[in-house]
Amino acid sequence: MIIGVPKEIKNHEYRVGLTPASVKELTRQGHKVLVERNAALDIGFPDQDYEASGATILTTADAVFEQAKLIVKVKEPQASECKMLSKGQTLFTYLHLAPDPAQAKGLLESGATCIAYETVTGTLSPLPLLAPMSEVAGRMSIQAAAHSLEKAQGGEGVLLSGVAGVPPGNVLVIGGGVVGLNAARIAAGMGAEVIIFDKSLARLRYIDELFSGRIRTQYSTKANIESCLPKADVVIGAVLIPGAAAPKVVTRSDLKLMKAGAVIVDVSIDQGGCFETSKATTHQDPIYCIDGIVHYCVANMPGAVAKTATLALNNATLPFVEVLANKGVKAALTDDPHLLNGLNVHQNQITYKAVAESLGYPY
Ligand code: NAD
Repeated sequence: MIIGVPKEIKNHEYRVGLTPASVKELTRQGHKVLVERNAALDIGFPDQDYEASGATILTTADAVFEQAKLIVKVKEPQASECKMLSKGQTLFTYLHLAPDPAQAKGLLESGATCIAYETVTGTLSPLPLLAPMSEVAGRMSIQAAAHSLEKAQGGEGVLLSGVAGVPPGNVLVIGGGVVGLNAARIAAGMGAEVIIFDKSLARLRYIDELFSGRIRTQYSTKANIESCLPKADVVIGAVLIPGAAAPKVVTRSDLKLMKAGAVIVDVSIDQGGCFETSKATTHQDPIYCIDGIVHYCVANMPGAVAKTATLALNNATLPFVEVLANKGVKAALTDDPHLLNGLNVHQNQITYKAVAESLGYPY
């Protein structure tokens, strides 16, 4: 199959659909891979690395879209990319279509088959192509919090690890899923005191066993969270109720319970945020202060560590790209109900119920 990898064109997006190592796997299996010039130069993969892996470098996105049967990307296609897609072509990328009617219209008009990373399911992990970005964001959340605790950022001037003779910082992680577990792991690794809150007892039991008590677990109720806020130096928001807006687990009045200069990192901001005072920020201007509490609410955290994020994403997506290329798209979708769950647009129709319902299309 001919597989195309265009350069991402969304503002400040440096990730890439396929790394040179992934390309090598595909060319080894007899596929032809077309990569747009300088597609991953910014994250240290020059065109020579792609050529050494057997790829052909093309100078424009147009040329890639024109020739490839399967397009592998990272971010949802921008308007100019939707126009380059055509019938008979398959797009494999994050789409996040539900809140994006313009993109949905563009994809429907293109006639292309569009498989969304975020709705592909799995047996070991419920959403295997979303999980790597949650791992990245969870680990990054503590890095962001540690930096935001510094005085120059408006923080209380606390070193999370403490030093000999001075106690470490106290970190609350609300939501013990993929983001929360990874945040807790890094915070504990730095020497911080960590408490994870979750509504799922099974999840709390798992975390308790995993860390042999090194991380404390607590059932998530408003009263339990409020009782821990006065001691917290950092609060990480990592809750998710699939398909729903994030529940507000910390309200504005709760901020008064916290120390001046404490930090909250709302990783759930892409689902509307789980702190009442959260509003989405960017990597260019990531933090703001309300009632003396530093807020970090960047909606695309993994974009800042584009190289790690690309490698992590490729580890998860490559097996699916291989199946799509080896079997052909139709057989790959028919044989694997998990991959079929990723199908969002096909033959000018929205094929994913929740997306069709939220956009008002027939299903
Ligand atoms: P997940 O499903 O693995 O975990 C969510 C956890 O929240 C579950 O364990 C669930 O039981 C728990 N939960 C639900 N309601 C709760 C409540 N009231 N109190 C405590 N726990 C509660 O999800 P995840 O992969 O960890 O993702 C978490 C959030 O982070 C999602 O909104 C996801 O979209 C977001 N995310 C954001 C970025 C970013 O760049 N900002 C990157 C990746 C993921």
